[in-house]
Amino acid sequence: MGIVGAGQLGRMLALAGFPLGLKPLFLDRTADAPGGQIAPMLVGDLEDPGLLRELAARSDVLTFDWENISGAALAQLQSLVAIRPSPAALVVSQDRFLEKALFSSLKIPVAAHATVDSNNDLLQAIKRLGLPGVLKTRRLGYDGKGQFVLREPSHVDAAWEQLGAPGLIYEKFQYFSREISIVGARSTSGRSVCYPLCANRHAAGVLRVTTAPYVNAKLERLAKIYLRRVMNALSYVGVMAIEFFVVGGTLIANEMAPRVHNSGHWTIEGSVTGQFENHLRAICGLPLGDTRPLGHCAMINFLGAMPDRERLLGIDVLSYHDYGKAARPGRKLGHCTILKARAADRDTALRAALRLIGES
Ligand code: AMP
Repeated sequence: MGIVGAGQLGRMLALAGFPLGLKPLFLDRTADAPGGQIAPMLVGDLEDPGLLRELAARSDVLTFDWENISGAALAQLQSLVAIRPSPAALVVSQDRFLEKALFSSLKIPVAAHATVDSNNDLLQAIKRLGLPGVLKTRRLGYDGKGQFVLREPSHVDAAWEQLGAPGLIYEKFQYFSREISIVGARSTSGRSVCYPLCANRHAAGVLRVTTAPYVNAKLERLAKIYLRRVMNALSYVGVMAIEFFVVGGTLIANEMAPRVHNSGHWTIEGSVTGQFENHLRAICGLPLGDTRPLGHCAMINFLGAMPDRERLLGIDVLSYHDYGKAARPGRKLGHCTILKARAADRDTALRAALRLIGES
């Protein structure tokens, strides 16, 4: 299997692929990328036509671990190799406006929004949608990057100074009670499976903690319906995640990811078949695995620095993942997952782990 991008997601895909007998080959810009530490890798630009062709020629199936790669460059390879998920699904998920348009066309609620290509557009959007709101880049934004929260009219100049360029979107600010996500997979035969709902805690736009299952039958039913609607509409193959805001007891879709997702890392140890394995099963045309949870899980991201491994492993039923990345402020370097039979015990272990990591 060819994997465009060899970050931590690619690395965890490779790790899940070995027991299935799959042989990963990566393409990444950096020679010491997490995936390249455990499997062969072509090193060069992710849009390099020659390298992409070589990757395609040496693969039976091609996938990607990052959505900000060129859909057009991938589409060129479609005659050479099966690309899953399809470049068409990738292209929609790369643009917040196209994504919201797809959600709306499928009757999935989204925040009121307007495209912004000029300072005047921004003023008009604020007039129509009000304050507060979030100005975001339509493309290439992730983990809260490329965003500005406007709370009062005087913020317009600062927002425009920071992001001002065509290709923005202004969204009405959502006063959510919780952020949740749903992760699922769709196979080549159109069968789909979904994991239980995940509750996510972000800080500065970056995911810090996921707990799952988040038990709310009504929201889970709705999230699964919405995820299946999107996957079916795109004839999607692979794992997909949708992040939602819970507002007034219902769901507002924020964004989708055409790949395995950080909020699904707990499934490696916490469900019968993890999201990485299910992605591989899907793209290889194999039967999808059971998504039932094995208990109550919490996943903590290690951001900026790795914690004290020895002390953390002192917490029983904690699994530790080091992505092999150099430390940099705010960078996702690894994660741990806690798996307990009871939610209350999971929460106690989570608090202990957060104390050890130096967070609360
Ligand atoms: P995103 O890059 O769209 O996933 O946004 C990163 C984080 O910023 C989200 O997880 C929310 O915590 C926050 N955020 C994004 N959009 C909004 C919004 N319209 N209203 C309130 N908070 C938001």
